[in-house]
Amino acid sequence: MDEKIWWKCTGCAYLVQQDVGKEPPRPCPACKNDCTFTNVTCYQPECGGPQSGNYDPTLM
Ligand SMILES: [Zn+2]
Repeated sequence: MDEKIWWKCTGCAYLVQQDVGKEPPRPCPACKNDCTFTNVTCYQPECGGPQSGNYDPTLM
């Protein structure tokens, strides 16, 4: 499975998963604002690691 990045909109908490190397959508497709997206991808074994396709619940 390819590694993906989870991005979360800081404005409306919209979540989007994209391939590594791609930028998050702009403007945000949900709230239509030019929001900042934060990377909430799981990099810890507690949530499955980066190959799991999970986001990190502690970052939510
Ligand atoms: Zn948004």
